Amino acid sequence: MADTLFAKIIDRQIPADIVYEDDLCLAFRDINPQAPAHVLLVPKKPIDMLASAQAEDQALLGHLLLAAGQIARQLKVESAFRVVINNGESSGQSVFHLHLHILAGRPFRWPPG
Ligand code: AMP
Repeated sequence: MADTLFAKIIDRQIPADIVYEDDLCLAFRDINPQAPAHVLLVPKKPIDMLASAQAEDQALLGHLLLAAGQIARQLKVESAFRVVINNGESSGQSVFHLHLHILAGRPFRWPPG
């Protein structure tokens, strides 16, 4: 997988407003926020999209969801937040390094647009 924008953020080649980091993942504020709180959570392992994840990534995927909850608590939005993963260009994915959007701070409609 070629170095994506998010790989460069993980490697500190590009600056970002980092809010959380551990051995397996990094979270930073979205540069174009769609809600008062909008954080991107990325695994350090370069997986291009959710559909490319393999059985060997099971623990990592679980870790990302637990980290999302921890980040929501850290941001004090744990009572109401939305987690989104865009998979593939037509779904809205523009950066091909798996990432979870964590959005909070405004009402969200369902179904999503
Ligand atoms: P997606 O469209 O699901 O692939 O999400 C990519 C997200 O990355 C978008 O919400 C962008 O606003 C965000 N983004 C793009 N460049 C940067 C950057 N340099 N720092 C933080 N977020 C970014």
